[in-house]
Amino acid sequence: MKKPRVLIVEDESSIAELIAVNLRHNGFDPIWAEDGDAAQREIDTAPPDLILLDWMLPGQSGLVLARQWRKEARTKTIPILMLTARGDEPDKIAGLDAGADDYITKPFSTQEMLARIRAVLRRRAPETTTERVEIGELALDAATHRVTWQGTPLKVGPTEFKLLAHLMRHAERVHSRAQLLDKVWGDHVYIEERTVDVHVKRLRESLGSASAMIETVRGAGYRLTAQATV
Ligand code: CA
Repeated sequence: MKKPRVLIVEDESSIAELIAVNLRHNGFDPIWAEDGDAAQREIDTAPPDLILLDWMLPGQSGLVLARQWRKEARTKTIPILMLTARGDEPDKIAGLDAGADDYITKPFSTQEMLARIRAVLRRRAPETTTERVEIGELALDAATHRVTWQGTPLKVGPTEFKLLAHLMRHAERVHSRAQLLDKVWGDHVYIEERTVDVHVKRLRESLGSASAMIETVRGAGYRLTAQATV
């Protein structure tokens, strides 16, 4: 898979460098532009998959740039994450109004930044949800939102359905709670990891005799397996 190209528009080189290093270490392809003109040149060369846009820039502000990029066909659909200073509440609202997808308040942790970047990218490209998956005698049809076990329909709640769909699409693989939060919950990155356990418990209850297919892997997370040991 191609690494997502992230355009960092930030005039403070120390911040830009730190962001770039962290992005590179986490499978992204960062490019740095120190102002709107440089950013525009990068966009004209090759449109990025996401723009990290600082609010306070020399020349045109991040707000003006966000507005401008939202209007242009070439940049219209590129997700924009605004970087704002702490406590700039009206700025955040103006930023979202201008067409930014989300904002991050400085100073931010690498984990927060990555979580928000991933959430924004996922919103733009949601996991395809129309196919049918079958693992053993358990079947999930995303188009009709139905789950069956040995041909009998099961009642599964919406979050449990998403969780099951993800586990079935990546069966036999161990998923940590953090990975499940990222993939299944995505947009709500501040949910506690314990929430995953609660929904796994509900999912097992819904699955009845198929519940053994959802294994708890001690110290690691959860796995859906066709080789269930009861
Ligand atoms: Ca700045």
